[in-house]
Amino acid sequence: MEKLTKDFRHLSRLEKIEQLKKHGWLNEESEQILHNHSVIDKELLDNLIENVIGQGTLPIGILPEIIVNDKAYVVPMMVEEPSVVAAASYGSKLFNNTGGLKIIKTGTTKLGQIVFDQVSNTTELSKQIYALEEQIHKVADKVYPSIKKRGGGYQKIEIDEFPKEHMLSLKVHVDTCDAMGANIINTILEGIASYLETELDNNEILMSILSNYNTTSVVRIEGKINIKDLEKNGMSGEEVAYRMERASVLAHIDPYRAVTHNKGVMNGISSVVLVTGNDTRSVEASAHAYASKDGQYRGLTTWKFDKENKQLIGSIELPLAIGTIGGGIGLLPASKVALDILNVQTSQELGHVMAAVGLAQNFSACRALVSEGIQQGHMNLHYKSLAIKIGAKGEEIHAVTTALKQSSNPNLTAAEEILKEIRS
Ligand code: NDP
Repeated sequence: MEKLTKDFRHLSRLEKIEQLKKHGWLNEESEQILHNHSVIDKELLDNLIENVIGQGTLPIGILPEIIVNDKAYVVPMMVEEPSVVAAASYGSKLFNNTGGLKIIKTGTTKLGQIVFDQVSNTTELSKQIYALEEQIHKVADKVYPSIKKRGGGYQKIEIDEFPKEHMLSLKVHVDTCDAMGANIINTILEGIASYLETELDNNEILMSILSNYNTTSVVRIEGKINIKDLEKNGMSGEEVAYRMERASVLAHIDPYRAVTHNKGVMNGISSVVLVTGNDTRSVEASAHAYASKDGQYRGLTTWKFDKENKQLIGSIELPLAIGTIGGGIGLLPASKVALDILNVQTSQELGHVMAAVGLAQNFSACRALVSEGIQQGHMNLHYKSLAIKIGAKGEEIHAVTTALKQSSNPNLTAAEEILKEIRS
């Protein structure tokens, strides 16, 4: 596979598809899907969810290169917000300049819980369950043998007691291999629950369900950016790095900032989650819960200024329970194309890329915030959207965008007047 050219972003949509194919990132089926605007075929459309009346689409943009553990990825991102793809691409480019991002920590196990209610003595019940662990393991293997054959399956149990509320949660750890695993885990849990119902007297099971708080599939990624790459608008690289570090401290101590900080992180991650057909709600829920793991909501990334080595060091840590198979993954046409372009071998590898994109995205957002401000880059894209909204076509879009940049009051009315003038 060959690196995309520097002028990739200036190519037309069709030229971009052609280059992805020519450089080995796209197979023929994916090329056809893209030419057909990733339309879902009628059979799948009518059966994937309930009460179907149509299908919605979002643009798919390309992040041309992000290097994670020495492997270069081209990353498709599906999102409606302008500047997200540009920001992630810019951040990636600066990380790539120092050799790319590195995986520090990773995990694949997913969790499910069987919750007992009306428990008179949680300590006693806990002891009884642990004594049955060997049998529980056997039941899990029996109800879902195929996941064991794939090298995954039951790992262990853990128990949380809630004596005041007379509840006990039995957490089952399962390796679901390349699937996100909700259905796999739920099947295993129901098997174990029905076994425990017969083994344990007088204990009511309230529910058995996967937990989206995937603390066993936490990914940590780190990357470095050279200070000289941070110089901006007369601000030295050192100053930008210092201000980035302060922005990171703020996201750690102030939830009002932390939520917005993490929204930016998820701009990157959710775009990749969505395009690959993964469950956006699951990833978002677990990311935000993890951000509050010590009782206060905090930023999912950290930035540190390494003065000695003249580098800015960034890191991200969050749970990523995602798949490269299962659910809508690989069924939805966009997800087929995305997985083809991403060229990942496992769901774990996909998680690494997602986390890396989240960090790159957060870098660009924070860098802009502490230097020129977020609106400069944002507004250029906003002007373009305004131009399209008022019906500008082809060359007119560029002309209206440029004129809006120079306007003292660059709003919809101004855009309409500019277009009128161009056409007169
Ligand atoms: P599936 O139910 O589609 O299960 C995965 C399938 O992939 C299995 O049939 C498995 O086959 C097959 N498979 C093939 N190769 C592999 C491999 N290498 N590794 C793992 N499985 C493989 O998907 P999930 O169990 O992942 O469930 C995901 C879906 O569940 C999503 O749509 C999600 O939105 C939804 N969901 C989410 C919930 C939540 O988040 N709380 C709750 C309920 C559902 P085999 O069976 O032969 O092993």
